[in-house]
Amino acid sequence: MFSSTPLNVAIIGAGPSGFFTADALLRSNRPIRIELFEKRAHPFGLARYGIAPDHPNLRRITKAFERTAANPAVKLHLATEVGRAVSVEDLRTRFDAVVAAYGAEDDRTLGIPGEELPGVHSSLSFACWSNGLDEYANTPFDFSAETAVIIGNGNVALDIARLLARHPDTLRDSDIAPAALEVLLQSRVKTIHIIGRRGPAQSSFGEAELREIGELPEVNLRVDPIIAMLSATDEKEIAHYSAERARAIVGLLRQFASRPEKPDARATISFDFLRRPIGITGGERVNEVSLELCKLEGEAGNQRSVPTGALQRLPCGLLFVSIGHRGRAIAGLPFDEARGVTPTKNYRIVHGDHPIPGLYAVGWIEHGATGLIGHSRRDANEAAKVILADWDGGLLRLR
Ligand SMILES: Cc1cc2nc3c(=O)[nH]c(=O)nc-3n(C[C@H](O)[C@H](O)[C@H](O)COP(=O)(O)OP(=O)(O)OC[C@H]3O[C@@H](n4cnc5c(N)ncnc54)[C@H](O)[C@@H]3O)c2cc1C
Repeated sequence: MFSSTPLNVAIIGAGPSGFFTADALLRSNRPIRIELFEKRAHPFGLARYGIAPDHPNLRRITKAFERTAANPAVKLHLATEVGRAVSVEDLRTRFDAVVAAYGAEDDRTLGIPGEELPGVHSSLSFACWSNGLDEYANTPFDFSAETAVIIGNGNVALDIARLLARHPDTLRDSDIAPAALEVLLQSRVKTIHIIGRRGPAQSSFGEAELREIGELPEVNLRVDPIIAMLSATDEKEIAHYSAERARAIVGLLRQFASRPEKPDARATISFDFLRRPIGITGGERVNEVSLELCKLEGEAGNQRSVPTGALQRLPCGLLFVSIGHRGRAIAGLPFDEARGVTPTKNYRIVHGDHPIPGLYAVGWIEHGATGLIGHSRRDANEAAKVILADWDGGLLRLR
């Protein structure tokens, strides 16, 4: 027999993980009241300000979040930062369960000299700026240089490259912030280097996202044909049954390597593998990044990038660091500094090895900053099952 006393749940963060968790709990059709606490003035997290503005279809998921927010059992507190406006302790005294779903907001940095120079930006600041997030409106993006460098081999790096390479006129129908469009319309960027420490087979690009780059009109793509050939170890690595994505990525990059150059191209995207940045130099703004050439060592599926000692100096006037994110500690919640996540066991937040009754975590703050919005939904469904099971098992102290 289910409890008829309503369960009161507080969710920290109104991003995809918070909304999917709320939705999964409500779909149980049990008496549950949910309050979401969001630090920003707008909800939806990276689904609103991370997804590139020229991908409006991906943002449609926010319509489902709006429906969840309109449910009478749900209350959304905007501009309410947990840890500042309200404490975790306070939430724990007022709610039966508290779910941390506050994402991974800190940019990972390279930790090399020159990273603080003007013209060096994080991928997140570019995403927030192009999506019109108020607090990034004054970020001084300057696209007057002809060469831009993006450090990182994931989809966010491809988002930046695509937005820089596309003709800005084609962004007029997108969700780009009007002020950002005005700045991009003046862009003089012609060459965009995407730098990765490892090789094509180890990149984190998504197949659809890389294919989209290949379909950009007026854009040349450059891939070193020798690197695209791959080593015998790489071949073994991508032959593994689980390496479907890597096989597709290598296939696309090989196609790019063999394409003739378009004489009328407005921009070139160059995929520069097996390089790691070791220093950024400049004066009033960045003007060069030093790269150390690398090679892969180790067994198939477990290859490491090791420096060879050979150097390349790459002049550039703009540099984006797109190497991922990590979570931030909130007072009152355990935090794993090394991994940048809230430590959990099966979505229950733990202190040492012991679950803390009534505390849960889900999404990027739980497992780290990897995975698409669809993954957050699966994660949230599982977390909701655990919360409901603890409720049924009498592990939650109802107030
Ligand atoms: C630049 C970028 C582009 C991306 N593009 C795509 C894409 O095209 N397609 C796709 O499927 N996935 C994309 N992703 C991944 C996707 O955004 C994540 O999978 C998803 O947003 C993770 O959801 P989350 O709720 O865990 O975290 P978030 O989306 O970060 O949501 C966390 C929420 O918590 C709030 N918050 C933080 N701290 C506090 C606090 N102390 N108190 C209250 N609220 C707080 C934040 O403001 C935010 O609203 C992208 C990610 C990035 C970084």
